[in-house]
Amino acid sequence: MKIQTFASSSKANCYQISDSETKIIIEAGLSLKKLLKLTDFDVSKISGVLVSHSHADHSEFINDFLKLGITCYMTSETTESLKLNSPFVEIIEPMKSFKIGSFTIKAFETQHDCKGSVGFWIKSVTENKRLVFATDTFYLKQVFSKINYYMIECNYDAEILEKNIELGIIDGCRAKRLKSSHFSLQNVIEFFKAQDLSVCEKIQLLHLSNENADAENFKNRIMEITGIPVEVY
Ligand SMILES: [Zn+2]
Ligand SMILES: [Zn+2]
Repeated sequence: MKIQTFASSSKANCYQISDSETKIIIEAGLSLKKLLKLTDFDVSKISGVLVSHSHADHSEFINDFLKLGITCYMTSETTESLKLNSPFVEIIEPMKSFKIGSFTIKAFETQHDCKGSVGFWIKSVTENKRLVFATDTFYLKQVFSKINYYMIECNYDAEILEKNIELGIIDGCRAKRLKSSHFSLQNVIEFFKAQDLSVCEKIQLLHLSNENADAENFKNRIMEITGIPVEVY
C-alpha cells in the first residue's frame, strides 16, 4: 500500500491511499484545483473519497469530487451536517464493512466534538496489508490486530500546552476544547502501548498543532516506544 499525505493540519487534510489496483482519497480538505497541480494525483484514477467528519479542514471541497461523480463515503451525521444532496454520497455505518475496488474498509467511532466522526480500517485484499487512519479524536479505545500502517493524529503535547496557557498564547477555552477533541502525545503513547505492533512497518503522525507540538520530539518519542519508523506531518 502506498500512503501519500497531501495536507495534514487544522487548516486542511487530504491523503491518498493506493495499492496496485485501487486509489482512494481520505478527507476532502484540499480543492481539486490544488490537487490537480500535484504530480502524484490523477483524478480519473480515484475510486472513492472517505470523509471522517464534517469539520471544514476534512470536508470543505467534497463537492469538487461529487460533481465529477466520484462516490464519497461518510456517516449520515456528516451528510446531514454538510447538507449534501447528491446521488454520489454513500452513507456508511461504524463497524459495517464495505468495498472500494480492492480495498475492504470499516469505519469505527472516534472521540471528537463533531457528531458522526469516524476513523477507518482499510485492508488491501490484493496486497494483504492493513492500515488504520484516525484523526481528530482525543483517544482511541480500539485495539487493532495485524496492522501494517498506522496514520494517527498526534495534535499536541500536554506539557507544551500547559506552558502556552501560562504564557497566554492559548486561552483556557481553546485548551479545554483541545483536551476533549484532539489526540495528545501522551494519549498516543498509551494507544500504541496497547497495540500489537508485530507486523507494523510504518507510523505516520498527523494533524500536528502549530503552537502545541514539537515534531522532532513526537517522532523520537513514538519511535522509542514502538521501535517502528515514524513520519510526522
Ligand atoms: Zn481536523
Ligand atoms: Zn475536527
